[in-house]
This record gives sequence, C-alpha cells and structure tokens, in this order.
Amino acid sequence: MKAASFDYVKPATLVETLRALARSDGQAKLMAGSQSLGPMLNLRLARPAQVVDVSRLDELRTVELIEGRVRVGASVTHAEIEDGCFELLRGHPVQEMAARIAYRSVRNRGTVGGSLAHADPAADWILAARALNALVEVRAFEQAPRLIKMQDFMLAAYTTSLAEGEVITALHLPRLSAQARWGYYKFCRKTGEFAEASCAVYFEPASATAQIVVGALDSAPVALETLASEVARGGLAVASEAAIEAALKGAIEQLDTLGRRMAGAAIARCLAQAFGVHA
Ligand SMILES: Cc1cc2nc3c(=O)[nH]c(=O)nc-3n(C[C@H](O)[C@H](O)[C@H](O)COP(=O)(O)OP(=O)(O)OC[C@H]3O[C@@H](n4cnc5c(N)ncnc54)[C@H](O)[C@@H]3O)c2cc1C
Repeated sequence: MKAASFDYVKPATLVETLRALARSDGQAKLMAGSQSLGPMLNLRLARPAQVVDVSRLDELRTVELIEGRVRVGASVTHAEIEDGCFELLRGHPVQEMAARIAYRSVRNRGTVGGSLAHADPAADWILAARALNALVEVRAFEQAPRLIKMQDFMLAAYTTSLAEGEVITALHLPRLSAQARWGYYKFCRKTGEFAEASCAVYFEPASATAQIVVGALDSAPVALETLASEVARGGLAVASEAAIEAALKGAIEQLDTLGRRMAGAAIARCLAQAFGVHA
C-alpha cells in the first residue's frame, strides 16, 4: 500500500515549525527519521494532511551542557550518539545503548525525539531515559518551553502527554559521577529486533538516585522502587532471585511466568553489570 497524499514542508526554523503545527488544526504530523512514521503512512495508519520535516532542523541537532545536564537535541540520531559525534555523550551510558538500537540503517535516521514521541513500550530511549530520570523539553507556538519528567511523559503504549501542537525539542540527561552505577540489558530474538524483555538500572549516590526500571511491557516502563532502594542500601546481595521475583510480582501484573522469568534475568544481569560482577 502507498501513503495517502499529503503536503510536505521542511521549515528552516523551530518557530516556523511550531507555526505550521499551530495553523494545521491538528492535521499536521512531524517527521524526524521516518523510521516509524514512514511505515505508518504507507499502511495508512497515519493520514496527515501535512508532514512537517524536522530531521535536519539545526536548532534540534545540538548537544550542550545546560544547568549541569546534558541537553540532547530531539533530531540528533542514534548513530551520531553511537559514533561519539558529541563530546558530552562520549562514554555516557546512552552511547552504548544507542549503538544497540535496531541496526545501522535504522540508527542512521532514527532520532531521539522521534523515538520518545512514538513511545513504543519496547523502545530503548523510553527505558534508558526513564531510568536516568531524564526530562523531556517540549515547545508549542508562542509558548515558553516546558520540561516533563520521564515518568509523566509516557502514559501508555504509544501514548504520551504531548499536547497538540507541541514539539519535543530536547532530552535532558544527567551527567554521571565517578561513583554512579549503570546497567542496561535487553533480550532480543536477533540483532535489530525490538526487545522482548529489558531493564535499565541507575544508582547515583551524589543525588541519592536508585532506579531499577523494567521495559518491553504492554505499558510504559515500570520502576521497582522498593527493590532499588534496598539495593542502594544493601548492595547486590539484597537482589536475590526470590527478591527480584517478589518485586516483579508486586509491581507488574501483566507478566506471565515466562515474561517474569525473562524480566527477572534482565534485572539480574543489569545489576551484575552495574556492580561490576561478571559471570
Ligand atoms: C526495523 C526497525 C527496528 C527498530 N528497532 C528498534 C529497537 O530495537 N529499539 C528502539 O528503541 N527502536 C527501534 N526502532 C525505532 C527507531 O529506533 C526510531 O527511533 C523510531 O522509529 C522513531 O524515530 P524517528 O526519528 O524515525 O521518528 P519518526 O518515524 O519520524 O516519527 C515517529 C513519531 O514521532 C513523532 N515525532 C518525531 N519527531 C518529533 C518531535 N521532535 N517532537 C514530537 N513528535 C515527534 C512523529 O510525528 C511520529 O508520530 C526500530 C525501527 C525499525 C524500522
């Protein structure tokens, strides 16, 4: 099937982009890398009157340090982060995470903002950003930017709290201290496929952060807060198989036995990574 016809515009500035969305009366759709939107257009699951291309918008393609956080422009691609094109992200946990999204042709075009907005429950940015307590920066026409906490951003599968006419302009990530512990693990049937079970963990003594977050669910990622606090206090020994199983049972009803086993193994491997334990 081919896409239904639509107007295509490629604004030169963010203000023009926001104006185009505001004028479209909800009939326009942003396009970044088109890795998810393209198939949706072709299958006619999306039938916008206008497509507004932000893939090369300079204002959305910078990475800078703002108020101690790394502000990553929404149209930065996974491949640019993988390749270390931005000094601030070299050695940051998201560099390795980005390198394992899909395969190279998808990473060459897929963007941070597109991935967040699409809100696939198995997506890597959705999980990593949640574990890192990242903030999503959004803008609407003639309005000041607003920052949304990741836990408030994704409401359900493919559903976010973005309002009509809002554009994701950036993702704000923490810089990790030397004491920070990070782990990321996903089960995929083969390279390039979305995860079937995934987990990200982040412990940052400097900000008393303790996060164990499970992804690839039917919903937004789920944080296992109690287990994370216990591990932050008691170390890896606290996270026995039984403790992980109990935490999963208590927090995530949707998992069947196999799903719980896979999520449990992802958590255990993630924690082992974070605490430098190699099997
Ligand atoms: C074969 C394949 C395998 C994949 N495997 C994985 C995987 O393993 N892990 C993973 O995480 N991802 C995976 N992806 C998804 C991919 O990584 C892209 O990130 C994702 O498709 C969306 O990014 P995009 O830039 O292409 O956005 P687009 O497809 O252009 O847009 C997606 C949605 O976001 C909206 N949008 C785009 N930019 C903005 C913005 N700045 N503000 C607001 N809304 C915006 C669009 O309107 C659209 O609704 C895979 C994709 C494919 C095709």
